[in-house]
Amino acid sequence: MASDIEIAQQAVLQRVTKIAQEKLGISDEHLEPYGHYKAKISLDYIDSLQDRPDGKLILVTAISPTPAGEGKTTTTVGLADALNRIGKKAIICLREPSLGPVFGMKGGAAGGGYAQVVPMEDINLHFTGDFSAIALANNLLAAMLDSHVHHGNSLNIDVRRITWKRAMDMNDRALRDITCSLGGPANGYPRQDGFDIVVASEVMAIFCLATSMKDLRQRLGNIVVAQTKDQKPVTARDLKAHGAMTVLLKDAFKPNLVQTLENNPAIIHGGPFANIAHGCNSVMATKLGLKLADYVVTEAGFGADLGAEKFIDIKCRKSGLRPDVAVIVATIRALKFHGGVDVKELDKENLPALVKGIANLERHVNNVRNHYGLPCVVAINHFTFDTPAEIELLQKKMAHHEAPVIVCRHWAEGGKGAEDLARTVADLIEKVPANFQFVYEESDSLWDKVTAIATKIYGASAVTADRKIKEQIKKLQDDGYANYPVCVAKTQYSFSTDPELRGAPTNHELNIREVRLAAGAEFIVMVCGDVMTMPGLPAVPSAEKIDIDENGRVVGLF
Ligand code: ADP
Ligand code: MG
Repeated sequence: MASDIEIAQQAVLQRVTKIAQEKLGISDEHLEPYGHYKAKISLDYIDSLQDRPDGKLILVTAISPTPAGEGKTTTTVGLADALNRIGKKAIICLREPSLGPVFGMKGGAAGGGYAQVVPMEDINLHFTGDFSAIALANNLLAAMLDSHVHHGNSLNIDVRRITWKRAMDMNDRALRDITCSLGGPANGYPRQDGFDIVVASEVMAIFCLATSMKDLRQRLGNIVVAQTKDQKPVTARDLKAHGAMTVLLKDAFKPNLVQTLENNPAIIHGGPFANIAHGCNSVMATKLGLKLADYVVTEAGFGADLGAEKFIDIKCRKSGLRPDVAVIVATIRALKFHGGVDVKELDKENLPALVKGIANLERHVNNVRNHYGLPCVVAINHFTFDTPAEIELLQKKMAHHEAPVIVCRHWAEGGKGAEDLARTVADLIEKVPANFQFVYEESDSLWDKVTAIATKIYGASAVTADRKIKEQIKKLQDDGYANYPVCVAKTQYSFSTDPELRGAPTNHELNIREVRLAAGAEFIVMVCGDVMTMPGLPAVPSAEKIDIDENGRVVGLF
């Protein structure tokens, strides 16, 4: 089969103005085109839709990720194309890809095979410049902070207690930990600093949770960047940075419209990490999608223990969004990996390992149904070497769960290959009402919140932390942040904090290593295990293969 980029470049795209007009009824005056195939949708137009009824919200999530790849984005695109094929009006809401993984190891984030959003070269590379705007807003705040200290430090900032980092959308380990302001008094006060990748910036999380430009400005003002010498928080508002930061984000904040290979509409907007942040596209985009179509298909990052939990407890809680159904993507390969098979052996039939690995899928299904209260469908993203015996076994083993298991071939066949899934999802929405639940209540203490996530969702026996961490949590609790949700940053490869513990581990403990306040995003990050906020490039990065040919076409992009 052709590569993703070859398939994408063969696609016959329609003008974005045509997609907007014919599929969504949006006239030209409400669009701000970036070339012929990408457009931003105006905020005034979005405001004008407030009285329209909302469509149904379909959350695409997955089993615990493995090096084999599961295909959430691919399935999100395939499902929406399939819904449109069976006569439903469906739109996609996705995150924008980060350049870090594009040039590094993981690759793009615009789907794959015959289930992609296009123009994939643009979506994967810069797109409409939103991430650059977010980096600029982040770095304006950093520059104003250091300049404030340089010019007399009237806020009495303790330079040893500055927590705000600079940001760049690149995997660059050289910038993880740096010393800045060297070179003499004219260059400020030397201090330790560092860079995060843009998707890990709190500005990104804020951008994706804000419900209006006013809310965006308010939240940016609330960012805590440092502490004073008497340990009082210093905010972006104290530095008078939030207004200019909002100005830098004013165009980025408008959702982006593109299309699938089958010319169906897709909104791609924002892209926070699913560890240090909540891992879903912007609230603005999802809410807009619900006004524009009868079905919105959206993806949450990593597995259903991380992305979906944060979708529910962080994104939905404040925004009022409520999913109607969840689709859990699984692959036979990944389940065999969870059953202990080596990555190199995954394309060989192995029924005993599959049976063992199904435990991972089962726990995610139980969590989604019992703890998030959502009806759910399991989508088996079909790979060419899956055997009939493996598929049959999986369906048999899952039969006692109230979750249909549907084999999908959208990667190889486009929307046509996911029609069964589309029919099942539409049917479930009609027949089984969701009984939406949060994992914990806003009024629970911060400690009880993380305990609820750990015990109910991860299957952990307990939460542990050093006294110092417990004191920090207590302080946040007493300082007025008790009602914030908790954002757990842990490995995506396991329900536990140990990436090697595959399947469905029990009797593990969740150890909190570090606590961070995200006062603008309005959540408390609890870091459990090693979390990388500035990745590095591998020995042979994807960037080595990416090039431009004599006709000006991008080549080598997956
Ligand atoms: P996720 O969103 O879960 O990270 P993606 O949908 O981005 O996963 O898919 C990851 C990669 O796997 C993509 O490069 C895609 O082309 C590939 N892929 C997805 N589904 C299949 C499949 N059924 N067969 C082969 N490759 C696939
Ligand atoms: Mg994805």
